[in-house]
Amino acid sequence: MRQKVPIREYKRKPLKPEVQTKLERSHQECHDLTERELRCPYCGRFLLTLFSDAAGHLTAPCKNCKSLITFNLACFRRKGRRGIFLDNCKTETTE
Ligand SMILES: [Zn+2]
Repeated sequence: MRQKVPIREYKRKPLKPEVQTKLERSHQECHDLTERELRCPYCGRFLLTLFSDAAGHLTAPCKNCKSLITFNLACFRRKGRRGIFLDNCKTETTE
């Protein structure tokens, strides 16, 4: 016997016109960009989709292993054949 569950309704506020304009412009600007996935380095779970112009630092929680990870996006730009992140960080050596 199948249990009947009422369809959940999510509460949403109506968007302000300026916010709507920003969303539409953001959507149009990302049309030519390529996308890449950001995965948890500990368990490999998908975290976010990033566009090719993403830069800077980002903190993201992993829902699988419950770790809170801070990424420098320059370090996690490309992956090797086996899914291991290549070291693209330019680290300064102190000698
Ligand atoms: Zn994880």
